[in-house]
Amino acid sequence: MNDLAPNTLPIYLDNQASTPVDPRVLDAMLPYFTVDYGNPHSESHIYGHRAMAAIDAARAEIAASIHADPREIVFTSGATEANNLAIKGAARFARQHPAGGTVKDHVVTLATEHKCVLESCAALESDEYRVTYLPVPESGLVDLAALAAALTERTLLVSVMAAHNEIGVIQPLAEIGALCRSRGVLFHTDAAQALGKIPLDVEAMKIDLMSMSSHKLYGPKGVGALYMRRRPRVRLTPLIDGGGQERGMRSGSLPTPLCVGFGRACAVAREEMETEAARLKAMRERLRKTLAERIPGLLVNGDLEHRLPGSLNVSIPGTTAPELIEACPSIAISTGSACTSAVVEPSYVLRALGLSDERANGSVRLGLGRFTGDADIDYAADALAAAAARLRGGGVKVTTGASRTT
Ligand SMILES: *Cc1c(COP(=O)(O)O)cnc(C)c1O
Repeated sequence: MNDLAPNTLPIYLDNQASTPVDPRVLDAMLPYFTVDYGNPHSESHIYGHRAMAAIDAARAEIAASIHADPREIVFTSGATEANNLAIKGAARFARQHPAGGTVKDHVVTLATEHKCVLESCAALESDEYRVTYLPVPESGLVDLAALAAALTERTLLVSVMAAHNEIGVIQPLAEIGALCRSRGVLFHTDAAQALGKIPLDVEAMKIDLMSMSSHKLYGPKGVGALYMRRRPRVRLTPLIDGGGQERGMRSGSLPTPLCVGFGRACAVAREEMETEAARLKAMRERLRKTLAERIPGLLVNGDLEHRLPGSLNVSIPGTTAPELIEACPSIAISTGSACTSAVVEPSYVLRALGLSDERANGSVRLGLGRFTGDADIDYAADALAAAAARLRGGGVKVTTGASRTT
């Protein structure tokens, strides 16, 4: 069932799920495994000092890439933990320290958020907080009027993803931030997909809390960060108790190599953002146009204009995603969130956009990245078009006949 030569890996078009570590990032990390391996929190010797100096430099790189102060960056194990800390931490602090007469126990988010945001909200609901899950129109973009209407005296926090992992749409962050600020509500954004891909500015966008992940921007897995505004100060109750590292917000010894890699990944992404975005967008548009020409009825899911440059989600009527994926073993693609893709049911994100089960079921996500080239795009377009034609032409399951050119 596989048309690949032995030892040949499929073309990787799943860069929203994770990205390879850039060689420049790996080089920066290596000394911190073997030479400067001290515990960064050891203050009595040079091993500790050198590790902490490297972490401080990394923290400054991460802060600079979102126009924050290094003291506003809390390292976490990834965006999942950062989202949990932001949402649960803010909610718990507000309940433990009620300010004035009004209890702030209401959170507003979108029905299309990442599972770790939705599940953090669900955990709050079972603790008797109230959560509003706003529906979204077919574009995937937030309805600002509906968001404004959902805010009440009791609303503590709004959580809206910066750029979507499944459909790639970029939300109007500055508009959401301005609305939240004017209503005295905290604005949290999950920027795991957006960091390093599009400009982010916590001041201009009035963001109070921002979750980040290193492995979505060519850094190592297992590290991320939460941006926490200092002015006006955002207060959270930590989720992990211990030695009080990260200003008490996240106890535990910091993983020096991972932090260093994350910092270097941010620096590289910042230097190359403009040229890389243009390159990715041109490739994505070529892929989209080729697929549209060769696959009658192909539809793009999510707004095309407000979209991450390397992201495409298409629905191919008359097919199902599992069939398509099986019929294209020479390209690595998926339906959406890696956490749930083992379950064969329509994506909750596409369903929330109001798409029919049939359309949602026939949708695949294509994610281009830093190491994707033009030849990969041509090859993937051939493979998908051939598979779609065969699947729609009578349901005979065969592998793609396209020949690999890279
Ligand atoms: C990948 C991803 C996460 C989870 O990040 P981890 O660092 O893997 O925990 C959360 N939100 C979005 C939008 C993501 O793309």
